[in-house]
Amino acid sequence: MAHRLIDDSLVIASHNPGKVSEIRDLLHPFKLIIHSAAELDLPEPEETGTSFSENAILKASAAAERSGMAALADDSGLVVPALGGAPGIYSARWAGPEKDFDSAMVRIEKKLGPKANREAHFICVLALALPNGVTRTYEGAVGGTLVWPPKGKSGFGYDPMFRPKKFSETFGEMHPPKKHQISHRAAAFRLFTADQFGDA
Ligand code: IMP
Repeated sequence: MAHRLIDDSLVIASHNPGKVSEIRDLLHPFKLIIHSAAELDLPEPEETGTSFSENAILKASAAAERSGMAALADDSGLVVPALGGAPGIYSARWAGPEKDFDSAMVRIEKKLGPKANREAHFICVLALALPNGVTRTYEGAVGGTLVWPPKGKSGFGYDPMFRPKKFSETFGEMHPPKKHQISHRAAAFRLFTADQFGDA
């Protein structure tokens, strides 16, 4: 375990309620006092980075600086190699200001067409930032296949279209605790918690 950076409080630097709720579940065993960016009325910085990790650092650093507490941000997205890596860091933006993921999934399906390779992966980079400017990042990924039509109402974002490798159901059909065991966010979290709290 590297030097631990977190005391007992942590800000989750996200305004996405789906993400905040997944992160709260994943952090539950560590008995931290958790605040969300929305609760603290922190502004949402513009995601001007060119990679998941730049955007995660940007969000975590802004929240740490404004709140004076350690902050954890997640930048994540769906990467489709047959679409040159799109939507990638633009995954949220493909759903537009009204966050319409049904339309974003239709857009992916139309661009893929019937013959494309349907492999895809989700990536999650977690960035931990302190008010003094120190940052660390942790990256996780999960591979799978894009299905059509989308299936299931659980989760958020592109979950109904993504069937993880070795499973017969999409993330949208999966019981949330099962998704939380195998997702890209879970993989990044395992690295984060091993680093900050040890493996216990
Ligand atoms: P951002 O990290 O806030 O820029 O947004 C990430 C976007 O990627 C989300 O709005 C979703 O569209 C997508 N995404 C990330 N993780 C997941 C997931 O676990 N399931 C479904 N979609 C996800």
